Amino acid sequence: MSALELVADRLRRAGRITALTGAGVSVASGMPTFRGADGLWRRQRAETIATPEAFAHDPKLVWEWYDWRRQTLREARPNPAHEVLAAWSRSTPGFTLVTQNVDGLLERAGADPIIRLHGSIWHLRCYQGCDVGRTEWRDETVPLPRLPPTCPHCGGLARPAVTWFGEPLDLVALEAAAGASACDVFLAIGTSAQVFPAAGLLPHARAHGAFIVEINTDATHATGAVDVALRGRAEDVLKQIAALL
Ligand code: NAD
Repeated sequence: MSALELVADRLRRAGRITALTGAGVSVASGMPTFRGADGLWRRQRAETIATPEAFAHDPKLVWEWYDWRRQTLREARPNPAHEVLAAWSRSTPGFTLVTQNVDGLLERAGADPIIRLHGSIWHLRCYQGCDVGRTEWRDETVPLPRLPPTCPHCGGLARPAVTWFGEPLDLVALEAAAGASACDVFLAIGTSAQVFPAAGLLPHARAHGAFIVEINTDATHATGAVDVALRGRAEDVLKQIAALL
């Protein structure tokens, strides 16, 4: 039995399946990962821009970066990796989709339900946390008419409703993801498994006896601790698995 057939067999027999996706699933849609060679913007790394410190220091610069990413995304289309996962999320009983991606491409492919660990680039909330504006709102205007945008409720600064490096995750999303990690098969797809606490879902799943499958073009920090590592592009490998099911 090939590794691909083994994974398909495990998936067929699983009662609970959880997939965790990272930036790698959106590469075929033209979205760079943070750590790859294309991850630079004006010679800066995302890890220095997507932080509370950077926003406090220069909100306009940080918003220019998000506005640029939103413009890139507006041109992007979901790829087969998004489509396979979206189809499973809708029609496979016991399947839970967890994403670290903020790009909204899985949602555009029709994924539902989805647990977003790091928020959405299409949502904003009040930076000051005013009463009404602390609840995020959706704004798909591209480009944003004024940078930095303001909170429609109090007139203060608005921020992207995403989790920046160094910020805690949304507790409800994290608890839902941790609960879903107690599953039969756990798929880690296109993630470098370096950003915690999301990366902690893999050992959590393992501790609950899950069969762990990694789908990635490269080896990662998690590779040594997975049951099967499928080397390849998520958009190819997921299509191959779907064809076997
Ligand atoms: P990462 O950049 O750390 O890792 C991406 C992984 O994808 C790498 O291991 C790489 O080898 C792999 N990869 C690249 N192309 C692939 C392909 N075609 N198929 C399969 N794998 C492929 O990304 P991460 O682990 O998601 O963590 C980075 C953080 O940055 C996350 O918090 C995430 O929210 C954020 N981020 C999001 C986006 C997005 O929404 N599209 C993009 C960049 C970063």
